[in-house]
Order: sequence, then C-alpha cells, then structure tokens
Amino acid sequence: MAQEDGQPAGDSARRPLHRPAHDAPTLPRGPAVDLLTPIEKVLAIVTSLRPAAIRGLAALELTNVGRLIAHVPMRVEKLAAEAPIAELVAGQNVSARGEVVATRILTRPATSKPRFQAAVVDGASRLDCTWFNMSYLQDRITPGMRIRVEGKLSKYLGGLQLVNPKWEALPQQGVEPALREEILQPVYPASERAPTAVIHKAILTVLDVALPLIEDHLPDRYRSDRDLVALAEAYRLVHAPAHEDDYLRGRRRLAFDELLLLQLGVHLKRAHLRQTLSATPLTHSEVLDHRIRALVPFELTPAQDSVVKEVVADLTKPTPANRLIQGDVGAGKTIIALYGMLMAAASGHQAALMAPTEILAEQHFKSITQILANSPHSRVQVRLLTGATPAAERRAILKGLVAEAGSDRVDLLIGTHALLTESVRFASLAVAIIDEQHRFGVAQRARLRTSATVDDGTGEPKTPHVIVMTATPIPRTLAITLFGDLDISTVRGLPPGRKPITTRVVKHDKRSAVYEFVRERIEAGEQAFIVAPAIEDAGNAAAKSVKTLMLELQSGLLKGCHLAMMHGKLAPPTRDEIMGKFRAREIQALVATTVIEVGVDIPNATVMVIEDADRFGLAQLHQLRGRVGRGERASVCALLASGAITESGMARLEAIASTQDGFKIAEVDFELRGPGEIFGTRQSGLPPFKVADLAHDMDLLNLARIDAAAWVARSPELRAPDERLLRRRLMMRYGESLGLGDVG
Ligand code: ADP
Ligand code: MG
Repeated sequence: MAQEDGQPAGDSARRPLHRPAHDAPTLPRGPAVDLLTPIEKVLAIVTSLRPAAIRGLAALELTNVGRLIAHVPMRVEKLAAEAPIAELVAGQNVSARGEVVATRILTRPATSKPRFQAAVVDGASRLDCTWFNMSYLQDRITPGMRIRVEGKLSKYLGGLQLVNPKWEALPQQGVEPALREEILQPVYPASERAPTAVIHKAILTVLDVALPLIEDHLPDRYRSDRDLVALAEAYRLVHAPAHEDDYLRGRRRLAFDELLLLQLGVHLKRAHLRQTLSATPLTHSEVLDHRIRALVPFELTPAQDSVVKEVVADLTKPTPANRLIQGDVGAGKTIIALYGMLMAAASGHQAALMAPTEILAEQHFKSITQILANSPHSRVQVRLLTGATPAAERRAILKGLVAEAGSDRVDLLIGTHALLTESVRFASLAVAIIDEQHRFGVAQRARLRTSATVDDGTGEPKTPHVIVMTATPIPRTLAITLFGDLDISTVRGLPPGRKPITTRVVKHDKRSAVYEFVRERIEAGEQAFIVAPAIEDAGNAAAKSVKTLMLELQSGLLKGCHLAMMHGKLAPPTRDEIMGKFRAREIQALVATTVIEVGVDIPNATVMVIEDADRFGLAQLHQLRGRVGRGERASVCALLASGAITESGMARLEAIASTQDGFKIAEVDFELRGPGEIFGTRQSGLPPFKVADLAHDMDLLNLARIDAAAWVARSPELRAPDERLLRRRLMMRYGESLGLGDVG
C-alpha cells in the first residue's frame, strides 16, 4: 500500500516550516530490499556508518529494515535555528557557532565540581560555554577550532553563557554548512554504541525504500473515521517529522495499534471461551439467600449487596464466570466469596478458595469455619490444604474431595494456589476463588482456567466459575488492559463503624518518639507491626533490615516488650506459629518484612510503623497500613522517612498520609511510577507496549476497547478477507501469550 493514502485532505497543502534534519544518504529504490533485509546489507553503502555502529544497532535488536522502522522515538526535540551570537536572547534555547578562542579548567577546592570553560567568538560577540564534570573536553575542544553549540542561554556576570550545551565540531577545512534552520530531532531509545543520532541516520537511510513496503492492517474507512493516519505514514511522521504535531499524529496511530491488537486478542479469547466452554449453573433462591445471610454476624453493606447480586447472576449461568472483585483493603470481599462458595455447596457442588500465602489461607479457613459454626445444622465440610498439611491428613482430604456427594465429601477447600495445579482432583468443582491475585495477568489466568477444567463424567468438560479478588485497587486503564477479559465488580467504601487510621510522616530525627508511642500502646494492651524493607543487612547505604532493627529495638527503644521477627525466609510452620502467638497476644510487636502485606487480620493491632517508608511503593504502603484499623480502637500508622529521603519522596509520603482512599492512591502511584512498579513488572503479565503509555493514553485505550468489542461481536473469528493481515499480526503478537491457538 502506498504511504500517502488516507492522509487528511488538507494535509498536503500545509507547507513544512522547515526541512527535516537529514542529510543522510538514502537508498535507491529497488527490488533488492525488503523489510527482512539485514541492516548490514543496506547500511554498508552508507559510508558514514561504521561497523561498530552497525553492531551497536544489532545489539538493540535492530537487525533488519523492518525492525529499524519499528523502532519508534520516545519524543521529538526541537532544536533552535542557528543565529549569530549577537542576536541571541537570554532565557531562550539557542544554537550558535563560532571560534574557540580560549579554554580553561576551573577547580575550586571541595565546594564545587570541576568546570571546563570555552570562550566562543563570532565577530565581535562572545559566548561563554561551561561544562560541569567534563574535564575530558579539554582534549576535544581546543583553541582555534570552530564549533556549534546549543542549549539554554543565560546571563552570567554581565556576559552570555551556556551551561552544559550540546556541541559539535564544524568541518575545520573547506566550506562550512550553512546556518541550520530550526529542526525537529527524534530521540530514540538508544545505547552507548548506538546513540540516537546513529539510529536516526540509519532509519532515514532506509525510510523511503521501506515505507511503500508497509501494508496497513486497518481498512481506510475505519482509519479515517477515527482520524488515524495510515501505518506507513505514521512511521514517516515519527521518524521524519516536519511539523511539531507530526510526531504526535504518527505516535497516536502506532500507540492505538498496540492497544487495539491486545484488546482484540482479549475479546477474541473471551468470545471463544463463551462459545466453547460450559460451567455448572448453580441454583439460587430467596430461601438460600436468607440462610446464607443468617450465618453472617453483620449486615452486608449496599456495596457488598450489589456485588453479591452480580456474583449470583454469574454463577447461575451455564457459561463460566470470569469476574474480578476489587475493593479497598478491608472492604469486606471475603464474605462475598463465601456467598458464592456456599451457593456451590447448596447445589451439591464444590468450591475452592486460594490465597497467596499460608498465613492468609489459614486465616480464611478460621473465619469461614467460625461463620459456618453459627449454623448448628450446617453440614458443609470445610478443609484447609497447604504445603504444611501433614501427609495423612492430606490423603484424607484428597479422598474427601472425590467422595460421593453427601457422604464424606469435602465441600469447600481452602488453601494456597497450589490447590489447582497439584494432584488435587475434585468430584465437582463449580466455583474457584482466587484471593489477592493482582499479580496475575491475562496469560496466567488463561492457563489457570484450562488446568482447572474437570471432566464431570457428563461427557462435557466443566470449567469452574472463576472469581478473582484483589485489594490492590487497579487504576481503570490498567484494569482494562490486564483484566480486559474479566467482568469487574467494585466493592466501594468500607463497612460502617471503622475507626479512621491516623497517618503521620515522621522525619528521621523524630524516630525515637515514635517508638515511645509504640511502647505506650503496647503497655495499654494493644499490638504493633513494625515493617522494614529488607530481611538482612546488605551493607553500606542499603535499606534497613528486619534483623538489625530487631536487635536495635530489643536492646533499646522497645526493651522488655515481647517482639518477634516475621519474614519470608522463615519456614512456613515457624511463620504460622509466630502468627498464632501474635493473634493470641503473646507477642506484642511483629518486626516484619512485607510478608504481612496482604490480608492479615489482627483487630487488636493498632500501630503500624514503617521504617524507610520512602523505599516502598504507595500502593504497598497503603496495603501495609490496611493491616491496622480493623478493630474497635483508633489506629495509627507512622511512616518513617529514611535519612536519604528526597523532596519528591517526602511529597509521596505526604500524599498517602492525606488520604485513605486506595483508588486515589493507586492513580497517583500509577502516574508517578508506571504500571510495572505497582505490580512488579515480571509477575504482572503486563503486555510490554513500545509506544502506548498506559498512564497517559487513556482515551486511546477506551477507543480501542470499544472498537475491539464491537469488532469481535461483528466478526468473532476475524476471518473476513480484509482482516487477514490484522489477524496474522494479532496472532504473531499475542497468539502465544493469550493462548489464542485454539481460537483458530
Ligand atoms: P478484604 O476486602 O480486605 O478482604 P475482609 O473481607 O477481610 O476485607 O473484611 C475485613 C473485615 O471487615 C473482616 O473482619 C470482616 O468480618 C469485616 N466486615 C466485612 N463486611 C462487613 C460488614 N458489612 N459489616 C461489618 N463488618 C464487616
Ligand atoms: Mg481479603
């Protein structure tokens, strides 16, 4: 397809303000080059690119023409038009040239960094250039040379000065290039061996030949309706922008492509699952509803009620539910899960609840057992299965899981998520609930669903209804991306009667006052969590460790109190034992890592101290804070700033102190640190986008989502002739990660 098609009509009439910045030689067009041609082959004829630079490009995986073109700049810099020094204006970005008349290095002892200075003269005008910490420039910029410099012009001691300007040597002999006009310079993800200028030159070399080879997978009509430029045009705009908004228009198309492909993949998968998988429809009635509610020692909030309604609607259908329940820490999600589990038991089927840690699994087991004990007639059998379950008991449970309904059948199984992957077989698993599973993305859940599918002997394999719960509030953009295949329910607000948690940011020098306070609360019979970022010391300026902190507190600030350590390196039985003692109030304060981050519910704990709080993510701090404020008494969270805290670090801590709304915090965290930081990049299953930026491309994402849903509804397999290319690119990109293989 030609690169000019689909351009907005008025476009060609606009005259460029200036020519794009390339004097790079371009390849002659010819049949010899295609998108897969290795770059050595095409770039060899460009004499100014040395083999080392070409190897540098290869190291960035820019190994062929297509990949080179697909390497999209992060932004475009505007470089000022070059002007005579006499005409430069302080406060502006400027570019000028002249002869270096003098250089020197200034080293003021101790107080300041070494500075290299060069005086550049153009006729009667002089410009002083200063570079900090770049003494090596002394060998490169020498008197007599002519150079071009650019940067922001400032006034200094009555003269004009550029600080740390960019510079380049002008040809020292022959004709100098004319004064450069204003240019737009794309800035690429680059490396030392392949700097952005080299990448740009390489791309410009192949651009004219490559663009006509790029086929568009979106129909013209579709594009023009959405004001999206053609694919080849988009690449031209980002690599060789002539106007300031060119880059943005090109980028918009490329970012949209990424988002649309993922959304199409997710919706395709979802449609496929809906059509091909079946689940056990559970029965529901008012009588059952009353019976379940009668067990619960409190009234459900309206927010809980409405999510229960959504869950009931899901579970009574013969298609597998696939729902995410999100709600702030302490919002009361467990009871909603239990409601669904009891529906399964009431219909004579089974349910499983998986938690990420043994501590949490055990806690769920206890509270669910307690709630069921409220009904003297309940014959619902509940079991806990974790790695710590003794072998004999484990055997008994496995047997119970496949027993005949009614006899010794285990109805509800609670455990860690190894439940679904191990040799655990269910007679009839209808509901699978995954708690605190925010670390799993689309691909992981796809796998889980498959592994949990059971053959119930009816000849039609049954997939359980899957409900995922998370207390890490997910910004909407991320929810759509990560969980686009899920229906989302939100439990808003907290149950009534919660005492707000007072959060204080405490500077390093006020630390002992915090522990004074901890001691007072302990002496009043309350309990505390004290969190440190690391288990052991890693030397020098590393984060504070649980072990060091424990020693310090034991022999000093909290001498005489019952303290215990809790961290991930302890054996699970030891952890459980400590947790048990803490629950029984035999231990007064736990010195812990973030292992206590999720779900732990100890209502008597009223103080949370977080050491080196600036080393944690905001969402994580919010989770940790949610460990207190669960009982009758008012709770306090102290965020202790590290000695090395920055101003922005302080601002982040103040932000979390000022609100208790987890969703607000998640949005802020997302803005500041990006999605990877919230979830831990690797675990998240987050699709790595090259161009799209989830924190800022919200509108595009919404458009992509709406379009993808409509597209798949209209063409559930993307099999129309004009969808062939789109389908191929989709499969290449997401076929494996989304498990689209079975979609066709
Ligand atoms: P999370 O959503 O973080 O998993 P939980 O389900 O653990 O929260 O609930 C937190 C606490 O609030 C529990 O002790 C639970 O019993 C209590 N709770 C839940 N719903 C209500 C309610 N409607 N009224 C009063 N207390 C509730
Ligand atoms: Mg929970």
